[in-house]
Amino acid sequence: MNRTEILMTGRMLPSVVEALEERFALHRLWEAPDRDAMLREVAPRVRGLATSTMGGRIDGAFLELFPNLEIIASFGVGYDNVDVKAAAERGIVVTNTPDVLNDEVADLTIGLLIATLRRIPQADRYLRAGEWLKAPFPLSPSLRTRKVGIVGLGRIGKAIARRLEGFGVAIAYHGRTRQENVAYPYYPTLLELAEAMDVLIAITPGGAETRHMIGAAVLKALGPNGVLINVARGSVVDEAALIEALRRGTILAAGLDVFENEPHVPQALIDLDNVVLLPHIASGSVHTRRAMGQLVVDNLTSWFAGKGPLTPVPETPCAR
Ligand code: NDP
Repeated sequence: MNRTEILMTGRMLPSVVEALEERFALHRLWEAPDRDAMLREVAPRVRGLATSTMGGRIDGAFLELFPNLEIIASFGVGYDNVDVKAAAERGIVVTNTPDVLNDEVADLTIGLLIATLRRIPQADRYLRAGEWLKAPFPLSPSLRTRKVGIVGLGRIGKAIARRLEGFGVAIAYHGRTRQENVAYPYYPTLLELAEAMDVLIAITPGGAETRHMIGAAVLKALGPNGVLINVARGSVVDEAALIEALRRGTILAAGLDVFENEPHVPQALIDLDNVVLLPHIASGSVHTRRAMGQLVVDNLTSWFAGKGPLTPVPETPCAR
């Protein structure tokens, strides 16, 4: 019997590649010497895609190449690289990897928040440069007495909020809807949240709906003592407006794990001292990336065993 053919669009963990090769005929698009030739040859037979943000954008034109495609298993909880509407129109199921990364991303977010406020990377650079021998490191801002606004109180946002409770800070949130059974104050507009808080943590999905939702007006409302932490997607923040706000002291500081044009980070940001920059690592531990990879494998295995997808995205035609 012919094995089910799966196309992997970009490099994934060796454990994922091995597990998929055991179960399926796996084609590795990123290794093909001639990408178009491989697509011409295998796309008509491919029934499943294993993909991630590293694998490029999956849009309607790309999907046209795959007349027999049934499922796109995407690595990561954010799936803004997949045109879910185009997939749904073709009856193709899309899955992501929610929940298994909540704690890891929340831990990193707290680390980034404290690093930004207490200027941990700057202090490390100061010591290495021999500056401590000349003078003590200048006193830093603090998390004490701060009010933290979470932009996107979803699975990860809630894990961040639970951790923040332990720090004894005030917590509030903004989203499109007020959530029942959530005791934190709700702000129906982001502008009102920014005015009332002095830290904003962005942890929404990316995509057109949230594009540049944090721009000049929100940063101005956050104010000169304000700190922005972005662990959502680079597209959520207007990077040019943020650079301007950091330069002018419109806000105090920022901690960023994500950027508009990754892996390219504007030199203007790199040159600033009041920002902590991370190369999109929030879920990037061995433990959690393995769990995410396993969920990609499990979704494809379950689907082709006729048991349905395990973690379909809400927009997908296949109900859970
Ligand atoms: P969820 O779907 O559980 O939560 C998303 C939250 O965002 C919801 O509370 C939702 O509330 C809110 N939201 C959605 N759209 C908008 C909008 N237009 N305006 C305001 N709020 C909005 O997702 P997760 O918590 O699992 O993941 C959230 C995101 O975090 C991912 O999509 C990804 O972009 C990012 N992420 C980044 C990582 C990194 O490495 N830096 C790692 C993992 C995730 P409501 O529906 O009420 O609007």
